[in-house]
This record gives sequence, structure tokens and C-alpha cells, in this order.
Amino acid sequence: MKSLGIYVQVPFCQTKCTYCNFHTGVVEKERFRPYVHAVCKEIREYPQLLSAARVDWQGGFGPSARTLQGENGRPAAESGGFLVDTIYFGGGTPSLLEAGHLKEMVEEIRRTFSTALEEVTLEADPETVEEEKAAGWVRAGINRVSFGVQSFSDKELQAAGRMHRRADIYRAVPILSAAGIGNISFDLIAGLPHQARASWKESLAELIRLAPEHVSVYLLEVDEGSRLGKELLGGGTRYSAGRVPSEDEMAEFYELAQQTLGGAGYHHYEISNWAKPGFRSKHNLKYWRREAYLGFGAGAHSFSGKQRWANAHDAAAYVRAIESGRLPVEQLGTVTAEQALDEELFLGLRQLDGIDVGRIEREYGVTLQERFEQLAAAGLVEREGDVVRLAEERLSVSNEVFVELMK
Ligand code: SF4
Repeated sequence: MKSLGIYVQVPFCQTKCTYCNFHTGVVEKERFRPYVHAVCKEIREYPQLLSAARVDWQGGFGPSARTLQGENGRPAAESGGFLVDTIYFGGGTPSLLEAGHLKEMVEEIRRTFSTALEEVTLEADPETVEEEKAAGWVRAGINRVSFGVQSFSDKELQAAGRMHRRADIYRAVPILSAAGIGNISFDLIAGLPHQARASWKESLAELIRLAPEHVSVYLLEVDEGSRLGKELLGGGTRYSAGRVPSEDEMAEFYELAQQTLGGAGYHHYEISNWAKPGFRSKHNLKYWRREAYLGFGAGAHSFSGKQRWANAHDAAAYVRAIESGRLPVEQLGTVTAEQALDEELFLGLRQLDGIDVGRIEREYGVTLQERFEQLAAAGLVEREGDVVRLAEERLSVSNEVFVELMK
């Protein structure tokens, strides 16, 4: 059985965070409905739209020999032999949409594909969580919330231009639980302006007190084109560029997260992700395992197993194109054997279970043993038979390992 993940991009935010330069817009609410309708049309008409955009989706989603039975009684062969088991609404801030909008998109997916939905995730920012909305999310089929906590320090949240404050986090978590969301993931960012060891420790301690099922810790990535990025390059004090922790401090924060989360029973399964037993992100695992996923919406990326492509970023242009029956695809490319091998190594090594070097050697007809022997001798990776994984104490500097791997 082949499973397929569906990603839906919602490129709207309430405001722009100081470090971010994603293709997301702060727009009037009136823009949401036409956007949702365009996404539903893209879902409904995806075979024709992809074919017209010259995407070789048949190669990736060709009917399987076996006919699978989806939860809606539709044989999976109708949707290319794939069974959709995960949906992820990401952004932007998809929790800005009305719950009814999200329901429309989930229902369109159920009508179009063979589905056996196990995990339906919504990225939600704390200030957007309300009782009625959360109940609507559950009615729409959402069973997991990726919660944009980022920090428990109001000073850090304010400096980063986030809309919520610590009190919003405490207010929202019981609302989500009462609505029936039994799988909540907290995002934290290490490296926000004004962050110090003490405030980071406190954020970790508060997170553990609220006991989410899953945790993602990201190191702050400042986009050069963002307001903070420009201040870091050109100087100034408005966005607290001078108070961004150093790389060494960020590595220390990451290591502190490793120890604290590990001590609280979270299993570290991917460089940036920890989970209580049974709560690894099924959808995100598909990215690291190079499994197929289809992205809908402006800027959404897709992978068929053979090709990768992305929709154009501009939301207004996306809506106009879909309304006129055209999919604005860009970055369409067939993954070469060499690229596929690189992806196997880089994406595979992000997972702490490691990679099976024997399998990769057989599949790609390459010899990797020598490369990994050198990395193991340098203490960057650990080997156990055919399995190679990043050395736990080197995870905070994993980029160094990847650089060595490329040599
Ligand atoms: S960081 Fe997220 S919430 Fe903030 S502007 Fe960027 S996409 Fe929007």
C-alpha cells in the first residue's frame, strides 16, 4: 500500500514577524473565501491541471496492481493507487481561516481521493484559538494542532513581532484539549532576540508543564530580506538585532532542549523534533522518507517520487490562474539518480534512527562505506552494522556533518 500526504498552503498572516520573509501576505478577510475555492478547484481537478502543466504525475501516481479500499469506500486505484492518510494545513497562519473553510477543503480531499485519514494537522497561532473555532476544527476532521508557541517570554515574543503573548498560550491549550484535540505539537524557536539561557530554560520548563504530545525546536533562521535581517546587515536597534544570540549560544540552547526534553520522556526522532511514544508526525515523516506528497495552494511543493514541483507563490496570481483553469507550476524538475541519492543521505540522516547504508548502496549502485568510515573516525556519525546515524552529541552542529558528507 502506498500512502500519500496532502499539504495545503494557506499564505496569510495577521502581521509579519520581524525575522520572516516568507511569501505570506497580511490581507483582508474577504480574500480567504476565493482562495479556499481556488484550492478546492485545484484539488478537484488535479489530474487535468497537472497534465496540462506537463507534470509527469502518472509516473508517480500510476495505478497500483492492488485495489485498496479507502474509508470512503472508493478504491484507491481511482486516485492512482494511493491512499491519502495525512493532511497538513500549513502557512502562514491557516488557523486564521474560518473552520468552515478548512472543512470544505478536507471534504474536497475526501471526495477526490481515496482516504483513510489518520493525521490531519492544522498550524495554529495561540491568539487565533477560540472555543467555537476549535470545535469547528474537530468537526472538520482536524485531530492534530501544530501550535506556534515559539517562546514563553513576552519580551522575546514582542521583539520578534509575534501577535500572541504567554497568557494566550495558557488560555488556548485547555480550549484545544476540551474541543477534543488529543495531539498537540509545540513549536519553540531557539535564538530569538533577547533570548538568554535563563529565559530559554523557562520556556522549556513551561512547555513540559503543559505536556504537549510533540515538540519541534527550530534554530532561528533570519531571512536577509526580513526587517530583522536588514537590521543585522545594515545596523540599527529597532528590531533588537544586537540582542540575537550567537551561534554558540544557539547550539547551547539546542543541547539544553535535548537534555530537558529527553529527561521528560520525549523521544528525539528527527533533528528538530521530539515526540511522546506514538506521536511522531506521520505527515512530516513522509518528507524525510522521500514518500509522495501533493501540495495544494500558492507556493505549495509536491513530490511524486520522480518529480518535484511547486506552485507559484503569489496568492492573487494563483487564484486567477486556477479560476481560468490553469495551474501556475514552477521549479518542475525530474529528480536525477544523483539528486535522489543526496536526498536519501541528507533527509535520511535528519532522522535519529539513521540510514541503512547497505540498502542505499544496493539501490543506487554506489559505495559509501569509505565515506562513512572517515566520518565515523572523525566522531561525526555512529555506525552499527549497516545503520549509520548522526552522533547525538554532534546534532547541534549537524550542518558541519552535512558539509563533510558533500566533500
Ligand atoms: S513566521 Fe509564520 S506567522 Fe510569522 S510572518 Fe512568517 S509565516 Fe507568518
